[in-house]
Amino acid sequence: MDEKSLSPTEYQWFCKKCSLFKNLRMPRPKIVERPFWGAQKAMERPDMIRYEENLFSIINRITIHHSRRMTSDPLWEIRQLQEVYLLKGYGDTPFHYFVDRDGAIYEGREIGFLGSHVKGGDFGNIGILVLGDYDAQGFPSGRNQWNSLIHLIAWQMVMFNLSPSALFPHSYFERTDCPGAHIRDRMKDIKKTVRELLKKR
Ligand SMILES: [Zn+2]
Repeated sequence: MDEKSLSPTEYQWFCKKCSLFKNLRMPRPKIVERPFWGAQKAMERPDMIRYEENLFSIINRITIHHSRRMTSDPLWEIRQLQEVYLLKGYGDTPFHYFVDRDGAIYEGREIGFLGSHVKGGDFGNIGILVLGDYDAQGFPSGRNQWNSLIHLIAWQMVMFNLSPSALFPHSYFERTDCPGAHIRDRMKDIKKTVRELLKKR
């Protein structure tokens, strides 16, 4: 986080669904928006369910996944991932955010839509996909990746008034190894660091 480059709007978030600016006591992390990574337009398909409710009252958890891939080109990987899900019949990428190995954060499915990342557990659940195979490679890839993931989680927690206990690995909900052994091993540390960041505000 570069404290010097912050402008007042970085402390705000515009909720498209509520047409409201919400003031946050944490700066927005830098996020690569969909047009900049070459996203295809989301399609109207059964998994694309827009929340009827006020987002601030229903977002209740955040789930971490990994992509289980070892590509070196994150833009290609994200585009490819979206393509695969579109071919499977989904309306968009299932995840709300991506974090790559260098710590860049990308916008996925619009936050006003249910994700499609935990079978039977998508309601109010924000999905973050960490690019990489964290059974095969260590986590984090570097300081930037760690800081970005922590910042993204903390920022969403501030936005939706969640505590670090609302953060889960995918494996908590389903029989899966996702998000890989090396991320699963660090879940406690991730929560602890998020808690520290939340306290600093
Ligand atoms: Zn997963």
